Amino acid sequence: QLERVGFIGLGNMGYHMAKNLITAGYKVTVHDINDNTMKKFSEKGVPTKETPCQVAESSDVIITMLPTSSNVLDVYFGQNGLIESQNHLSPWLFIDSSTVDPQTSRKISMSISKCHLKEKKGYVEKPIMLDAPVSGGVPAAEAGTLTFMVGGLEAAYLAAEPLLLAMGKRTIYCGGSGNGAAAKICNNLAMAISMIGVSEAFALGQNLGIRASTLTNIFNSSSARCWSSDTYNPVPGVMPGVPSSRNYDGGFASKLMAKDLGLAITSAAEVGLESPLTSKAHNIYKRLCEKGYDSKDFSCVFRHYYSGKDE
Ligand code: NAD
Repeated sequence: QLERVGFIGLGNMGYHMAKNLITAGYKVTVHDINDNTMKKFSEKGVPTKETPCQVAESSDVIITMLPTSSNVLDVYFGQNGLIESQNHLSPWLFIDSSTVDPQTSRKISMSISKCHLKEKKGYVEKPIMLDAPVSGGVPAAEAGTLTFMVGGLEAAYLAAEPLLLAMGKRTIYCGGSGNGAAAKICNNLAMAISMIGVSEAFALGQNLGIRASTLTNIFNSSSARCWSSDTYNPVPGVMPGVPSSRNYDGGFASKLMAKDLGLAITSAAEVGLESPLTSKAHNIYKRLCEKGYDSKDFSCVFRHYYSGKDE
C-alpha cells in the first residue's frame, strides 16, 4: 500500500510534483497559502488542509516545496506548523525539496530527530528529515524527470527513492543532512557564473564584429563549451526552445537565482570561505531584479545587463 503524502507549496514546481504523485497512486493531501491554488486540487477531489499541522496529522510522509528558507522555517516551526511545539508526530519522513541553505536543513533535521513518532512505522524509531532539492526546472517537474540531490540518513534515502522517482528520473545521494542543499547551491553558483561568463564573452564578441551563431559554433567545439553555450544559450535567435528565444519568459527566474546566490554567500561566510565571484554574480542578479527583470529567466543577463538594450 502506497504511503499517504502531505504536499506543502503548490507553486510552479510543487503543483506538477504533487500532480505526478497523485497520478502514481499516492494518497496526497495538500496545503498552500494561496487559496486559488488549493482550489485547483479540491475541485479534483484532492483533500486540502488549512494548516501544515493538519496536513501532518493525516500523512506518513511530508514534502515541502517552498520559495525561501524563512518560508520553510515558518511551515515547520510557525503557528500551526508541522512540528510546532509537538513532540509526537504522525509522519515518519519529512522531505524538503525547496532550495535552502544547508544550515537551515540541518537545523530542521536536528529538531525532527528530537521528536517521537505517534505510532511506530516498521523499522523506523523516530521521524527523519531528508533535504532533497531538485534540478530540471518547471518542464522537468511537469514531465516527472527531475533530478533529486538528497542529504540525510542513507536508509531513509533508500526508503524514499520510489516516492522521489514518481516525480523524477534520477536521485543522487549526497551524504549527511544538509548535503543535498549544499550540492544544489554549489550547482547554481557555478551555473550563474558560467551564464554571466558566456554572456560577457558574447557581448564582447558581437561588439568586435563576430556573429553570435559563429561564436556559438566555436565555443561548442572549443574549451569554452558549457551548458550556457550549448544547451541554454542566452543570445536571442541562436537556439530554439530556450527562454532567450521567447523574450526570456518561463525558465528559472532571476529573483530565484539572486536568492540562491545569497544562500551561497551566507553559507560561504559561515564556513569562512571567500567567494568574490559569487558576490559579484549576486550583485548583478540583484541589479537585474531592481530593474524589473526579476521574473525573467536568468539568461536575460545577456540582454539586460551586457547588451544594454531596452534599459
Ligand atoms: P513558487 O513561488 O512558484 O511556489 C511556491 C509556493 O509556495 C507558492 O504556491 C506559495 O503560495 C507557497 N507558499 C509560500 N509560503 C508558504 C507558506 N508559508 N505556507 C504554504 N505555502 C506557501 O516557487 P517554485 O518556482 O515552485 O520554487 C520552489 C522552490 O524550488 C524554490 O526554493 C526554488 O528555488 C526551487 N526551484 C525552482 C526551480 C524553478 O525552475 N522554478 C527549479 C529548481 C528549484
